[in-house]
Amino acid sequence: MAETLFTKIINRQIPADIVFEDNDLIAINDINPQAPVHILIIPKKVIPTINDLTEADMPLIGKMVFLAKKLAYEKGISSDGYRLVYNVNEGAGQTIFHLHLHLIGGRKMNWPPG
Ligand code: 5GP
Repeated sequence: MAETLFTKIINRQIPADIVFEDNDLIAINDINPQAPVHILIIPKKVIPTINDLTEADMPLIGKMVFLAKKLAYEKGISSDGYRLVYNVNEGAGQTIFHLHLHLIGGRKMNWPPG
């Protein structure tokens, strides 16, 4: 599979502001934050989109969401509220085809989203 921008970050070929890392996941501050807290939670395994998930990926998705919960608490946005977003394909605004969960918070969020 072709290297993605996030693979290059995982492999330290390009720099990023890393907020968490373990064997399965890396979490980085978004380079173009849409809110005071904007973290990308990225599996090291390259899965292009949510559409490409298999049942075997279910624990990984659980880990991503659980990490989002922990980081939200650490960043102090748990009580006020935050948003977790997977953009899926171009129509939803996905630009990097390596699965990632946006953790966005620290300001009031509008609904419906743009
Ligand atoms: P998508 O639009 O695919 O859901 O989200 C991609 C996200 O990656 C965007 O929010 C964008 O700002 C972020 N991004 C793009 N390039 C870089 C980069 O080089 N470093 C970091 N940290 N974030 C990036």
